[in-house]
Amino acid sequence: MNIKEVIQNAYHKIKDIDDKGNLASYIPELENVNSACFGVHISTIDTLNFGVGNYHDKFSIQSIAKVLTLTMAYNILGEKLWKRVKVEPSGTAFNSLVQLEVENGIPRNPFINAGAIVIADVLLSNLDNPKEDFLNFVKTLSNSKEICYSEKIATSEKSVGYRNAALCNFIKSFGNIENKPSEVLDFYFNLCSLEMSCKELSNLFLFLANDGFTLADNEQILTRSQTKRINALMQTCGFYDESGEFAFKVGLPGKSGVGGGIIAVHPKQYAIAVWSPKLNEKGNSYKGMRFLEEFTTESKLSIF
Ligand code: GLN
Repeated sequence: MNIKEVIQNAYHKIKDIDDKGNLASYIPELENVNSACFGVHISTIDTLNFGVGNYHDKFSIQSIAKVLTLTMAYNILGEKLWKRVKVEPSGTAFNSLVQLEVENGIPRNPFINAGAIVIADVLLSNLDNPKEDFLNFVKTLSNSKEICYSEKIATSEKSVGYRNAALCNFIKSFGNIENKPSEVLDFYFNLCSLEMSCKELSNLFLFLANDGFTLADNEQILTRSQTKRINALMQTCGFYDESGEFAFKVGLPGKSGVGGGIIAVHPKQYAIAVWSPKLNEKGNSYKGMRFLEEFTTESKLSIF
């Protein structure tokens, strides 16, 4: 089996299907993206790097960044982190408020907005210069200096971020936010605004396929056990109330973002990033999911 061929075939097959998704119009700036863009890039442990389509173009990685803030917070707090956020699938939408009331402001998992806002709070409490330190961490992971926040996207999201403000204030009322909500939200909107290409993303996420070590310089970011746990969380919670469907159809740990990106990891083998901006009704890239389903089916490279 030739991986490049499988990717090329899957790309061309999915490129031409009717895209039933819609752009994430609730963040005004995300509506200005060219919805026809479609890119894929794979990076493997044995150093294959291969991309098709718009794999060099940067896009807003949005919730994919939640895996990176979680990695940094886990690194800092270790197992104490799980007192602030749980590790159960939510079965609800990414921006839902419903479970917080009965669960006393402890979010179900770090990938729904509620959980990611708590993780942002953890980083604010533990970093001297949160925005700068987090960006440097991401640059170290990706071995690239070319990664930036998008002020335009962060400002755009902030201008309409009523739901996230509600989540943050609600969690604060239970005592699970230490900092000022305005500061936590500012950091949260910025981290969601990070821009990367499929190539940068698949390179960066290789550490989760490599037992927690960066491939480029063998730096240990997480222990083996921590790496396993982050992959487990991506498998069970990475696609909100579509996580079961993603496991069922694709069979890989992964994480999506409303910018239309998806990263998926096959432990010990590869990381693959896809970008197609139109989202299905669950907020996950329509073509991105279809592509990954085709890829793991044809390559037989899923974890199940
Ligand atoms: N910044 C987005 C939000 O909070 C992230 C959501 C996502 O990518 N699923 O709504």
